[in-house]
Amino acid sequence: MKILAIETSCDDTCAAVLENDCLISSVISSQTDLHAKWGGVVPDIAKRAHIERIEPEIKIALKRAKIKMEEIDAIAVTVGPGLAIALGVGVNKAKELAIKFNKKLIGINHVEGHILANLIKNKEGKPERKIEFPALALTVSGGHTKLVLMEQTHPSRRCGTPSLEKGGFKYTVVGETLDDAAGEALDKAAKMMGLGYPGGPIIERLAETGDKNYLKLPRPLSTQKNFDYSFSGLKTSFYYQIREWPKEKIGENLTNLSASFQDAVFDSLLIKFKKAIEFYNPKTLMASGGVVANLELRKRLRKLAKEFNAPLLMPVKKQFNTDNAAMIGVVGYYKALRGEFVENKEELDRNPRLNF
Ligand code: AMP
Ligand code: MG
Repeated sequence: MKILAIETSCDDTCAAVLENDCLISSVISSQTDLHAKWGGVVPDIAKRAHIERIEPEIKIALKRAKIKMEEIDAIAVTVGPGLAIALGVGVNKAKELAIKFNKKLIGINHVEGHILANLIKNKEGKPERKIEFPALALTVSGGHTKLVLMEQTHPSRRCGTPSLEKGGFKYTVVGETLDDAAGEALDKAAKMMGLGYPGGPIIERLAETGDKNYLKLPRPLSTQKNFDYSFSGLKTSFYYQIREWPKEKIGENLTNLSASFQDAVFDSLLIKFKKAIEFYNPKTLMASGGVVANLELRKRLRKLAKEFNAPLLMPVKKQFNTDNAAMIGVVGYYKALRGEFVENKEELDRNPRLNF
């Protein structure tokens, strides 16, 4: 099965071609340069850039895969969650192509995409990854921070050994941020320090040589029994502590401030992940989303998994952590196996607040 996947939920215009769950080509056109001076994503600018770039991106993806539009079997597109006017560009393009070329159409949840980014295979079908259920996934990016319990629904348990291809997946959000996403918090802290956008990677680099105990910052909600997150209090505490500092003092302490802030964000993430592991006893752990590109976070996640003697899956390539269309194509593949195609193509709509 040949799948064309499209993703435009935020500020990356992405297209990919897959043969089943194996990635043949993937193009990502990042708009960070356009949004950098505003310190965050400006929806109108994102929409315009998606409109300009989506068609050429699709053409390049098909060309690199050496596949013609006529040979594609299904088109998978992100319908939500995300920025409404950005999502609309991808959804409209997918509908237009599906109708014009008479292709099957599949609507995809972006967060499911981040989770299944762990299952993207290369052209040779590698890596072969297994998920034992229940699995617990931490998805942490610029738009969301969620702990998702993933189970498998087997229509017929007696038909051979359960495989990933058989039956559907059931997702339950067991915890999520009540305000800002973790990546968003990192981006905002970077902005307060006068650093560039996106802030996550810049803070990562500065934090390497900083003192994480330099500022005393809260770990919001960490003593509560639920598995929810909050990052706005942390951001405010950071702001109040440095707002009266002269520019020079901030400049001299960029490494310490970055290390302190990053540590507070990662502690918060890990505290709740650990609590949820203790509660749900998952057989597989997964972590993905833009912030999981961070090497320090990956190290801490590996240590946590070791403590529980549980396998931990993280996307094999850095570019599979941040937004991409390959992950949308993989979800499309599993949905296609179950025949979950859009019935009336004209009616497919974006859903900015889509949940599981
Ligand atoms: P996404 O929304 O999945 O495309 O991810 C983008 C978010 O991930 C932004 O908030 C970035 O600041 C954050 N991010 C990307 N790379 C890193 C990194 N190396 N460390 C921390 N955060 C990162
Ligand atoms: Mg994302």
